[in-house]
Amino acid sequence: MLTHPVARTHANGLRVDVASGQLVPARQVDSPNCDDRPAGQAPELIVLHGISLPPGEFGGPWIEALFTNQLDPRAHPYFETIAGLRVSSHLLVRRDGEIVQFVPFQRRAWHAGASQWRGRERCNDYSIGIELEGTDASSYAPAQYQSLSGAIAALCRAYPVLSAGRVVGHSDVAPGRKTDPGIAFDWPLLRTLLHLHLELDPP
Ligand SMILES: [Zn+2]
Repeated sequence: MLTHPVARTHANGLRVDVASGQLVPARQVDSPNCDDRPAGQAPELIVLHGISLPPGEFGGPWIEALFTNQLDPRAHPYFETIAGLRVSSHLLVRRDGEIVQFVPFQRRAWHAGASQWRGRERCNDYSIGIELEGTDASSYAPAQYQSLSGAIAALCRAYPVLSAGRVVGHSDVAPGRKTDPGIAFDWPLLRTLLHLHLELDPP
């Protein structure tokens, strides 16, 4: 029997089409910043990030521009320092909860950089990167937790190796180098929502 409204909606209506590697429905924006995972490598880890462009400002077109190599370095002084980066994530969760997908899940997105998880380096090889529009120290929006937890639940159903316990922060896999998604990220809330979506016992 279904007893909770979140459980009843199953991942907020999100699902993964494994053949295409796409989250449905998510707005699809192709990033050239990706390549093949190592042969036979399925997603085994989810890495959460925080990003805002310019730093501390929300809602602009700049994150999508960065991930598609279209960031105008003249538009803001900070952009001059990052316009040459070739980076991407699989998903971006905007402040209003909208999900944008840049890279299909079977492909390798370029989000983690030098990184290590449980002794395994190169997390990009075997992880899915999800960016949240935000900063380390300001609260993420409730709509972002709803979309994020739904997306993760859908990914866990599509790729059985994934689980609620295989979701980490960029700061966990690149300690000392990265701090995102930051102290503002509410891990207990995410765990609670994931357990509801996946109909597990409470964390
Ligand atoms: Zn990051």
